[in-house]
Amino acid sequence: KPGENPQIKPELTKAHLAATKGSVITRFPPEPNGYLHIGHAKAINVNFGYAKTHGGICNLRYDDTNPEAEEQEYVDSILETIRWLGFEPHGVFYSSDYFHQLFDLAVKLTEKGLAYVCHCNGAEIKAQRGGDERGPRYACKHRDRPVAESLAEFQKMKEGRYASGEAILRMKMDIHSDNNMMWDTVAYRILYASHHRTGTEWCIYPTYDFTHCLCDSFENITHSLCTSEFFMSRESYYWLCDAVEVYKPVQWEYGRLNVTKTLLSKRKLLELRDNGFVRALDDPRLFTLPALRRRGVPALAINAFVRELGVSTSDAVIDVVRLDNHIRDCLGEIAPRIMAATHPLRVVLENLLEDHFEEVKLSFKPNDESFGTYTVPFTRVLYIDSSDFREVDSADYYRLAPNKSVGLQGVSRAITCTKVVRNADGSIAELVCRYDADSAHAKPKTFIQWVADCPKLGSPVRLDEIRVYNPLFKHDNPKDSSEVPGGWLSDVDPDSLVVVKGAVAEVGLWDWIKSYAATEAGRKELDKHNVENIRFQFKRIGYFALDKDTVLTAADIENAQFGSAKLIMNRIVTLKEDPKK
Ligand code: ATP
Ligand code: MG
Ligand code: MG
Repeated sequence: KPGENPQIKPELTKAHLAATKGSVITRFPPEPNGYLHIGHAKAINVNFGYAKTHGGICNLRYDDTNPEAEEQEYVDSILETIRWLGFEPHGVFYSSDYFHQLFDLAVKLTEKGLAYVCHCNGAEIKAQRGGDERGPRYACKHRDRPVAESLAEFQKMKEGRYASGEAILRMKMDIHSDNNMMWDTVAYRILYASHHRTGTEWCIYPTYDFTHCLCDSFENITHSLCTSEFFMSRESYYWLCDAVEVYKPVQWEYGRLNVTKTLLSKRKLLELRDNGFVRALDDPRLFTLPALRRRGVPALAINAFVRELGVSTSDAVIDVVRLDNHIRDCLGEIAPRIMAATHPLRVVLENLLEDHFEEVKLSFKPNDESFGTYTVPFTRVLYIDSSDFREVDSADYYRLAPNKSVGLQGVSRAITCTKVVRNADGSIAELVCRYDADSAHAKPKTFIQWVADCPKLGSPVRLDEIRVYNPLFKHDNPKDSSEVPGGWLSDVDPDSLVVVKGAVAEVGLWDWIKSYAATEAGRKELDKHNVENIRFQFKRIGYFALDKDTVLTAADIENAQFGSAKLIMNRIVTLKEDPKK
């Protein structure tokens, strides 16, 4: 059996079972000091998943005992993110719900002679613990002060009669233990900070080590699942539950998840933002869950990714490519296909009449009728992507070049470039091509995407901005200082964001948005301006989603007022893995 089987007093077990009726109860315990990240997606799947597998329940508990770092914005974002991932907490609790209970147990612990008020400073405590040289450990002079004195001092701490740092409550554990978590860990410290829920009611706050196990116990958590850095805390977790005589959940550890080419620590994310390397904590280059969501990554892909990794006990740095592959698999199923040109090149079909007009019926997802169809104009002037044209031909090149043909998707005919028209500066203004309507030529090897120039039908749809993302860091592990001489911030890739202006797309883009807005769920999301679910596969290019900077309302769509829309798109992922990386 993994984990230990702590010995628990029979009456505590009885009360615990009466409360749980024997079912599994887990909790996801984030601190509301930042957005959740991809690592938390693992923690969420582990906790909710374990409970679900065993027919139990999982709570959300905000671990809010550090008032200086915690904010309501993060509280709100965390619950929204958990729901976005597809989980609903059975109950929502806060460590601060228990501040009074925790205080009472701290008093009880002190009364039992198992805690004392200490006035040592950080350096003194470090020296007591053997210092950097791991020398001999010794007790501080306050350790054996009378119980009544500690109780009185603890009251003084609570009443605000000490400045921050002048007194702490320490647990009287075992300073000679091999486990440093047993070296009289701090239980309470003084902080004159306003708490996001309890305001200025308290000036002493319990530490994580004091709070976590007791809150687990109050909530009758059966399995306290946590990451492996808490392995050494298991002993102190059990020690405290036993010392204050409360029910003792089982603690099991699992490995932290990290992803290559990114960093997850909240402090580092703030540094990136404050130094202007990213725009915000939900900048789509980051791996916070709000960032991944904003980028257009489906929650399903994230869950599939973390589930595939399983619940190993070792920490793992997983190649970001594996997440990308899950995203592709998922988007391949759900994203409609349309044609777009990120760098449009104008093409004039010389053998078509000025007012030539055909309607071409296209399917949002070939071989899947449920996605529906749309029609686009086919006219004398159209746009292709400039990457599909080359002036210098070669034998292994199958797209457009002077006197060379290429197929057009959806019309299954070829065009042949007959002339390159130049601007005064020598750059290419447009291509003149012949449209091989009779298909007399051999079947083209490649079919490229195109967008008609037909303003009266709203074609092309102009994309104000496409944001193309590359990994934020150049190295797999940007933290590794041996790899990065100038420190991790110097490892940021200046080309991690490339903004492309002037891209064009087919009118099918509007058809899809209209059909999305016509559903009840879609309309609701649009009313909240959650536009990231509007995703496309731009054929032969990649997967894209609307960014929240897009200017577009559900009413605009209803009234077909696309003129006022400003479309900003994020590239979620390319179609294929880049072989160079
Ligand atoms: P960070 O400093 O990265 O924010 P944290 O552990 O301080 O991490 P918490 O808000 O306390 O963040 O985390 C809530 C829960 O999620 C904890 O149980 C924690 O162990 C778990 N968790 C945090 N980061 C990861 C990770 N990278 N992989 C798996 N679980 C994680
Ligand atoms: Mg934490
Ligand atoms: Mg943290």
